[in-house]
Amino acid sequence: MQLSYWELKNWFTNIDYAIVGSGIVGLHAALRLREKFPESKILVLEKGMLPQGASTKNAGFACFGSISEIIDDLKSHSEEEVVNLVQKRWQGLQLLRKRLGDEAIDFRPHGGYELFLKSDDSCYAECLNKLPFINEILKPLFKADVFAKQVDRFDFKGIQDYLIFNPFEAQIDTGNMMQALLKEAVAQNILILNQQTVSSYSDTKNGVEVVLGEFSFVAKKLLFATNGFANALTNGGVKPARAQVVITEPIANLDIKGTFHLDRGYYYFRNIGDRILLGGGRNLDFDAETTTEFGQTEIVQNKLEQLLKEVILPNHEYQIAHRWSGIMGIGNSKKPIVSQLSDNVYCGVRLGGMGVAIGSLIGQELADIVV
Ligand SMILES: Cc1cc2nc3c(=O)[nH]c(=O)nc-3n(C[C@H](O)[C@H](O)[C@H](O)COP(=O)(O)OP(=O)(O)OC[C@H]3O[C@@H](n4cnc5c(N)ncnc54)[C@H](O)[C@@H]3O)c2cc1C
Repeated sequence: MQLSYWELKNWFTNIDYAIVGSGIVGLHAALRLREKFPESKILVLEKGMLPQGASTKNAGFACFGSISEIIDDLKSHSEEEVVNLVQKRWQGLQLLRKRLGDEAIDFRPHGGYELFLKSDDSCYAECLNKLPFINEILKPLFKADVFAKQVDRFDFKGIQDYLIFNPFEAQIDTGNMMQALLKEAVAQNILILNQQTVSSYSDTKNGVEVVLGEFSFVAKKLLFATNGFANALTNGGVKPARAQVVITEPIANLDIKGTFHLDRGYYYFRNIGDRILLGGGRNLDFDAETTTEFGQTEIVQNKLEQLLKEVILPNHEYQIAHRWSGIMGIGNSKKPIVSQLSDNVYCGVRLGGMGVAIGSLIGQELADIVV
């Protein structure tokens, strides 16, 4: 399509910052740049009709790691790294709440729980055993015990006697959060263009030529916030990880409130009003789920349905209302990548399964490395 003089002038000329991706990270980076450079021209390019990766697809856990995840992370990261990560997630959540307000994101501090299947004796024993130690290393941050044993009062089936409760965990409405973020970006005079895929770029030292298929324009700086789609950009440092989700119709007399983790974080569920959202199962077929294609597979969907029927809702009548998937960005470290790729090109990617918490902070860090 041929663009008019006006279109070229207003949308594509004198761009100071072009940001690729309108997820949590891209929008927070844009807002931070606006704070620092009130007069700048900021353009966000998004390949989807809506943000189309993880930020509008997620489960809305405002969490910073279940006890088994923290124990697992300690096996591949130093204690300092793990505590730093938890701290960043916690700070990120505070930043998100401050920026958008608890009402706008429907923040509900119901707490979070980890449950353990009867068959998972070893993980259960390890978590109970290490609980005092994990509380100890997190105490400087929370000034209180984070994890505590609690008897199951939700009537789950096939699980160990105790759940592990975390009063600091909460849930948000993901759709409300992303809409509030998009509205804030527009209010801050940030231009957002949807259905624009950045196909390549060329850093010319004085600026960056940003290519959108047939068309290109120049920006002074280019920031990638493309998370699960950043494999090539990071030379394999980020791998896509699809996550499948189901949600039920409203369930009569549902007495489950909170966010719940199962099987070392591979499954997660929560109430949304009187519905249950359940996601996970990537571990059933890592190869198939290492993809940027949205979709469902029989093996994962069957497992989600089995968990709903046998563990989570054994005493309820319910129907599955809807199914979807999203694409996360993971790698061999839980630490996100925030780095400069060339003179004028930067990225903030690899948010893993906790971008709701850490995304605001990573967006901010990404903006802050751009000079
Ligand atoms: C099913 C699911 C459940 C989750 N649950 C939780 C949870 O409960 N709590 C939590 O903290 N985290 C959760 N996460 C993870 C969290 O959603 C992500 O970590 C976070 O949204 C990542 O944000 P982002 O902005 O980095 O990436 P994204 O939201 O994926 O944004 C990247 C954007 O870049 C766009 N893009 C990519 N390539 C291009 C291109 N070439 N040109 C233009 N645009 C491009 C994509 O369309 C996308 O919109 C979940 C993720 C999924 C998928």
